[in-house]
Amino acid sequence: MVGAMTVEAGVVSDALKRYFGFDAFRPLQEAIVGDVLAGRDVFALLPTGGGKSLCYQLPALLTPGITVVISPLIALMKDQVDALTTAGIAATYLNSSLEYDEVRERIDGLRRGAYRLLYVAPERLAMPSFAAELATLNVTRFAVDEAHCISEWGHDFRPDYRRISDLRERFAGVPFLAFTATATDRVRADIVERLALRNPALHVGSFNRPNLTYRVTRQKRSPEALIAWLEARPDDAGIVYVGSRAAADDLASRLKKAGIAALPYHAGLDADKRSKHQERFIRDKVRVICATVAFGMGIDKSNVRFVVHYDLPKSVEGYYQETGRAGRDGVPAECLLFFNHGDVAKFERFIQEKESEAERAVAREQLDRMTRYAYSNDCRRRDLLAYFGEAFTELNCGGCDNCLEPRPAVDATEAAQKLLSCIERIRRSSGFGVGIAHVIDVLLGAETDKIWRWNHERLTTYGIGKDRSKPSWRALADELVRLGYVAVDAMHFNTVSVTETGRQALTDRTPIVVRESPPTTERGRKRAPSAVADGPYNAEVFRALRDLRKEIADERDVPAYVVFSDAVLRAMARELPRSPAQLLKISGVGEKKLADFGARFLSAIAESA
Ligand code: ADP
Ligand code: ZN
Repeated sequence: MVGAMTVEAGVVSDALKRYFGFDAFRPLQEAIVGDVLAGRDVFALLPTGGGKSLCYQLPALLTPGITVVISPLIALMKDQVDALTTAGIAATYLNSSLEYDEVRERIDGLRRGAYRLLYVAPERLAMPSFAAELATLNVTRFAVDEAHCISEWGHDFRPDYRRISDLRERFAGVPFLAFTATATDRVRADIVERLALRNPALHVGSFNRPNLTYRVTRQKRSPEALIAWLEARPDDAGIVYVGSRAAADDLASRLKKAGIAALPYHAGLDADKRSKHQERFIRDKVRVICATVAFGMGIDKSNVRFVVHYDLPKSVEGYYQETGRAGRDGVPAECLLFFNHGDVAKFERFIQEKESEAERAVAREQLDRMTRYAYSNDCRRRDLLAYFGEAFTELNCGGCDNCLEPRPAVDATEAAQKLLSCIERIRRSSGFGVGIAHVIDVLLGAETDKIWRWNHERLTTYGIGKDRSKPSWRALADELVRLGYVAVDAMHFNTVSVTETGRQALTDRTPIVVRESPPTTERGRKRAPSAVADGPYNAEVFRALRDLRKEIADERDVPAYVVFSDAVLRAMARELPRSPAQLLKISGVGEKKLADFGARFLSAIAESA
């Protein structure tokens, strides 16, 4: 078998520290590296941020020959190669952005053995001359990144990925490695089959992302609410997902007006503008990107500190993938979802517009699952992992709103009776349904045109709810919808009606227990505590180091994370190393980076600490 060799464990962990600066492997990395070094085919399913790239980069350093990495993310290849070069690892890439001479030069370099890793875009594989050229090089193994792109069942099918099987035939003895973060059983089987993996070593990691905190807010969505939330974390960068292009543009300009550096990103912008905006975000020039789901695939920015869903995502799977872009560096990061019951109604209307009944059924099931997630009073993490068939057995995850601030269960029988009977009375007296806002107006004894027009001030329920505020009636109404006492008709202006269960509860005076919303507003809430230990650090030093990092990144024309990740800067600002030896002890500081940047970081620490 080509590439099979024994490498001592000590050599592997030495290289882990020397090149990558890490002291320990992330879960499964060591086992995967072992199988790669043993020359086996490998299939590895690790979540985003799980550290997949190291699984083929490290072996590439320990075996002779070239590791060919197939990656769909052409825009990122340069950054990936820059990151390796910065760490002292010889790597190069070939894609359509290069001139002919440049390509020749790189291939000559590969032939001379000047590089350990070669990144190629899948469209290269369609060129017959390219495979022939590869055959003249000393290729040790192929690593297929984002391997789900080979499957039509995946969410990101790339027809050119199918060409990989031609390589498999041509390079019969060369091991193939497949890496992905997304794989349902069907996609997984498809990858193994399409790549014709031979007796592959299978590694499936946990999908739990312990450093992410999940929250759902029932606060009404508004640019102001979002701005307040962003202002509470002025140093953090992140993504705000919205449901439409117009909303992305609009929200970005609202944020800009409020003094928050933000840009839109969506399929309606021309390619040039899109990549410029993405670039500015990756290079830490803007702090917020307002995006549709088109954004994110291959965002290799490890210090995304939050992902906000301003609009309801279509499915739990999509939600998990999008939130997964936060916190790849392992440092705590936040995921916030704005959710109001009206969102569901809006989605139901979209669903009605779909062509086939089959499509409608799928969309409805996904919406239903998403709604249950948003309404749930149980651990969000457990819920998300259950979706992927993974059990989470801890009682309190310490990293979601329901675990951190459980909403107390309160007996709301009396108020619920008022609300239900008010809905019933309105229907009976007027013969038509109304929206929940009007029902609440009646309960509060408001003086509105509609009330006068329809004579609703004469109802016996008029003004009987003055003991509660409008938002608390809204929250109660949401709970009654969740519990199935009230139905909302999305096709008829979101009019509400009492369900059969609700009517039964009215006559029987069934006790109704609801969950009260937590008393704090988003504005008042500070950063969430996290399940991941991330001790206190000197914030002033951190800021100074971040500025220095940006300076160095700009000098080299690379993204900031290529220099050091946020996790590394925080560790420096915590440990405050005084000497090169102490600096080298920090996870993420390898020998090459120590040599290149060590002195500058040490003096910045000495000056600001
Ligand atoms: P994936 O491709 O699985 O999403 P990456 O390979 O991009 O993940 O790695 C995510 C982040 O984790 C990167 O910043 C990387 O440097 C870091 N990382 C990888 N392995 C380790 C490790 N063993 N210890 C600490 N950080 C690691
Ligand atoms: Zn939880």
